[in-house]
Amino acid sequence: MSSVMIHPASYDNVRTAVDQAFEIFPLELQGKRVLIKPNVLRSSEAKEGIVTHPAVLLAVVEKVEAMRPASIVVGDNPGLVSYGANEEAFSKTGLLEAAKGYYQNIGNDSAKVDFNPDFMPTVSISQAVLDADIIISLPKFKTHGLTVITGAIKNSYGFLPGAQKAKLHRAAGSAERFHEILVDVFQLRIPDLFLVDAVVGMEGNGPASPDLRAIGLILASDNAVAMDAVMATMMGCQPGQLRSLQKAKEKGLGDYDLNTIELIGELRRIPDFKLPPISGEANLGNEFIQTAIHSRTIMQPHADPGLCTGCGTCVDQCPVSALSMINNIPRVNVAQCITCFCCQEICAEKAITLR
Ligand code: SF4
Ligand code: SF4
Repeated sequence: MSSVMIHPASYDNVRTAVDQAFEIFPLELQGKRVLIKPNVLRSSEAKEGIVTHPAVLLAVVEKVEAMRPASIVVGDNPGLVSYGANEEAFSKTGLLEAAKGYYQNIGNDSAKVDFNPDFMPTVSISQAVLDADIIISLPKFKTHGLTVITGAIKNSYGFLPGAQKAKLHRAAGSAERFHEILVDVFQLRIPDLFLVDAVVGMEGNGPASPDLRAIGLILASDNAVAMDAVMATMMGCQPGQLRSLQKAKEKGLGDYDLNTIELIGELRRIPDFKLPPISGEANLGNEFIQTAIHSRTIMQPHADPGLCTGCGTCVDQCPVSALSMINNIPRVNVAQCITCFCCQEICAEKAITLR
């Protein structure tokens, strides 16, 4: 039986919850090489709630330091085409300082490994991931237009540096297949501990939405499927409706059935939690909504002319070149768009919404 810890916390006092997580899920770190992987989606400020909060990273780094590992690396591969977490992304969020000198650009060194030939025969994975004896994953509690939630399984997508993330979006071609890719990437190297920053979470049009939600919790588990099942339940989703959790269960990576999960703390559904538009704000058991999730045509990105600065970043980063600038605003070619929502993730102005 897997366990999930649900512990009250604030950013001023996150250490108690972190200590508790390490007590419930003990790790032997002495003499080990430890990789700590926050969610650094892109350059942003901590108060925007897009990345794992620096207070959570700092508490974990200090906890790990005290356990005398051989080495610590803090890193992520944000974005879709850039190689490795650049210093600007870490620095603007406050994560560079919280990493206490252990930050590394883990995109600089990678190795090819076999992947699912249905999508790509090989992928490159950061060498730091392969070298680590222990990996501690620090997801952020957020919604995601394509995958509904972005939690423990999806945080491992950042193990892949560079443009291949966009290529995999293109290879997937649908939300359902992208869920499956996420599990394949996750399985390349399963982290040893997951500690979710749910002090302030994100609802609505995630993973870079302005809709933040004070939740006041740190969640922890040593099993990603159980962790994501708890997150989904808190958001008001039925975990078994998420293809990533279905596939992870089929592969024997864990179980999303709450009857099989030991809850250490109180699991409560967050009232009126706003799911992303693709999943609707009703329950995911609804057949129409399931069709929407598995469809590649219902939702399309739309740039708000009031917010868009015409920078062109989304046009450059669309993996299938479905966007073009017309009158200084990106327009989508619906026939080409694979609804990966990378453009929404990458837009620093939060100008792209799903319609
Ligand atoms: S990235 Fe955002 S601001 Fe830049 S062109 Fe695209 S929608 Fe506009
Ligand atoms: S337009 Fe946006 S959602 Fe559509 S394929 Fe390009 S990046 Fe993905």
